[in-house]
Parts: sequence; structure tokens; C-alpha cells
Amino acid sequence: MGMIFYKTDEEIELVRQSCLVVSKVLALVAGMIRPGLTGDVIDKAAETLIRDHGGVPSFKGYNGFPATLCVSVNECVVHGIPTKEQEFKEGDIVSVDCGVFLNNFHGDAAYTFALGQVDPSVMRLLKVTRDSLYKGIEQAVAGKRLGDVSFAIQQYAERENRYGIVRELVGHGVGHDLHEAPEVPNYGKRGSGPILKEGLVIAIEPMVNLGKKDVKTARDGWTVLTRDKRPSAHYEHTVAIRKDKADVLSDHTGIEAAILQNPNVQAI
Ligand code: MG
Ligand code: MG
Repeated sequence: MGMIFYKTDEEIELVRQSCLVVSKVLALVAGMIRPGLTGDVIDKAAETLIRDHGGVPSFKGYNGFPATLCVSVNECVVHGIPTKEQEFKEGDIVSVDCGVFLNNFHGDAAYTFALGQVDPSVMRLLKVTRDSLYKGIEQAVAGKRLGDVSFAIQQYAERENRYGIVRELVGHGVGHDLHEAPEVPNYGKRGSGPILKEGLVIAIEPMVNLGKKDVKTARDGWTVLTRDKRPSAHYEHTVAIRKDKADVLSDHTGIEAAILQNPNVQAI
């Protein structure tokens, strides 16, 4: 992945601007998603909002990815391609990942939505996955090591809650490139890896499976699926490393406020 680029305060503010648009997109999705809708509809709405803000969808055209959003339903872990055909159903969980490129910087965040009555065991997966993201963020402060972030996520999701953490896909640095060094695995050893320094901007994004950790890629070359076909959840924030507390540049509060107003989505 190459060298780590530390950002100035000014550059971090630009990443925040990109993340702000990502957060608006995900809040828009949170307000409109419902059973009967197709991924294509939310994808078009997302692209329009991004372009209205002067941004460009980070994912569209990235290694040939055809859409603005990754829309990953149930056993799809990440990188699902939104379609015109597949309608969301009552009881589905839908992970929506969005990246925005604006002012020469990317922003990246993701959220998993629960449509209608979702099985309590799956609701618990969503809660634990989201909480594992915040366990990782708690460790993302200057002076700690990257492995402390990874360890905190794995400790909570895998050791304490017995879910499967995906190994093949990881978080990443964020900046002029969508995926910069360092890689940010969701598993690892406490006290290992590079020391976290102020100005490092990373996307932390646990992908947690209800069953086993193993995944495979579908024939479309993109969609990552659990091998045991059990559901998977994904939450992501872009954060900047600071002295005492990570500065979370993306925002889930608008998403969660919109969910409370949407009778078709269950709050976690
Ligand atoms: Mg993402
Ligand atoms: Mg990411």
C-alpha cells in the first residue's frame, strides 16, 4: 500500500467536508430505504446528492466498480452492486457503503440498516458490530499502535461475542486516494504495528459475520459473500488521529435520527 501520508489540520478539514457529504448521503438513504425498493433507486439518489454538493462518487469507476454505493444485503458482506431487479424485503439487513471525492480528498463511511422485523439474533449482530467499531475508535489515539485498534475490535466481536471477523477485507488510510496505507485489519495483536501519530486519517470498518469468518467472491467479481450464507454486518467511520481522542470525521447521528423517522427501518 506504500507510505503513510500524515495530514495537516487544513487537509483534515477537507476530509471532513468529504465525510460530511457521505454522511448526508447515508442519512438520505436512512430516510428512504424500505422493503420493495431496489438498490438502483438509492444509488441514483446518492449520486445526485453527491454531485449537487460538487463531489464525485469515489467508488464509481474504482477498479471498474459500476455504482455510487455498495449495497450489500444479508449474506453479502461488502461490495454488493445495486440492481434494478433485487427488491429489499421485510427482514433484510442492508449494508450501504459510500465514498465521496471532493476538494481532492476522499471520505468513506458505511452503515447497516435493518428493514422491518429482523430476527433478534441478527439485530444483536448489528449492535455488536457497531459497538466494535467504537471499541476500535477508542483505541485510535496518538501514541497507541495500530494493533491496539485491531485487537479491540477482534476482542469484542470475536472473543467476547463469538462472531466471525472477515480477514480478507480491512480498513485503510484515507486521503487523496480512497485506499491509502496503512491497512487497518479488524483482528490483530495489542501493541503491534505502527505507532499512531497525529494527522493519520484512517477508515475503521469492521465486517462481522453471524457465523464463520470465511468469505468468497461471487461470479460478478465484486460481491463478497459469507461462505456459510449467514448474514454479515458492516459499519465504518473515517477518523483522524489526535492526542487524547480520535476526531470522528464522518457522522452516524444524522443516519440514526432519520431511522427514528422511518417506520420501515428498525433502530439498533
Ligand atoms: Mg467504505
Ligand atoms: Mg473503507
